[in-house]
Amino acid sequence: MTIGIDIGGTKIEGVLADPTGAVHATCRISARPGNDLVVEDTVRVARSLTGMPVPVGIGIPGQIDAEHGVVRNVVNLGITELALADEVGARLGAPVRIENDVNAAALGAAAVVGGERKAGTGTVVFLNLGTGLAAGIVRDGRLDRGSTGAIGEIGHVPVDPNRLPCPCGQRGCLETVACGGAVARLWPSADPAMPDILRRAAQGDPEARRVRDMVLHAIGDALQIVAQAYDPRLILVGGGMARTGAPLFDAIGAEMRRRAEGCPFLTTLDIPSRVRPVPDGAPIGAIGAALAAAEE
Ligand SMILES: [Zn+2]
Repeated sequence: MTIGIDIGGTKIEGVLADPTGAVHATCRISARPGNDLVVEDTVRVARSLTGMPVPVGIGIPGQIDAEHGVVRNVVNLGITELALADEVGARLGAPVRIENDVNAAALGAAAVVGGERKAGTGTVVFLNLGTGLAAGIVRDGRLDRGSTGAIGEIGHVPVDPNRLPCPCGQRGCLETVACGGAVARLWPSADPAMPDILRRAAQGDPEARRVRDMVLHAIGDALQIVAQAYDPRLILVGGGMARTGAPLFDAIGAEMRRRAEGCPFLTTLDIPSRVRPVPDGAPIGAIGAALAAAEE
């Protein structure tokens, strides 16, 4: 058994999981900002799951130095720099490993969706349509971390024709259009925005159609990038925007089929058949963190 803890901007979610990713206990509390409170709350979640000093994996946003267990620049939690693995490990008397939150969610999604709660075989990509846009890559049940930890950062590939400025310093990054944060800026009149955009577009609202087409085009680009760069068996789509559910996935399928018209190459790739939603509410971030803790 290992403990997995997913630290987000608003909540901390923990699971006690076995090596297949099956969950044996859960705990969820609100997150509080600041180094000391993040450590305290993480330790509290771990202790509530088991009294045993089992290995702990932690998924957290920000820049991750996995080797030294240090996380930097988590704006939503007021963290500039925190030696999270050492601080939590010392209190629990257990080994602690930290992961980028999208990578942890990828590992969890691959286990939950990709292989009937076993680590999925082959290559599985997790595409996070969350506040930002990023992908995590899992090969035969193990994370591909790349050479610098920046693997899967496709949100900052500047291919979007709208050329909107991005906080990263470029223009036209996919993340300026194809993620929950971007859609909320493009369509501020409804929260969540994406279901409202799709509903109004279906009713013929021209502005909703314009925004819908922008967003679907950028999501289509993101899917093609991961499909063609990694040739995955499955592309698991999660994050807040994915909670739009069937209306969004139907629209994504239509966009990908439209692209394949008259293109034997894309027709053969058959990207729509590889896309799966991540089950709403599944604690994939925490499950993946637990699986990462079990890696040697
Ligand atoms: Zn960018």
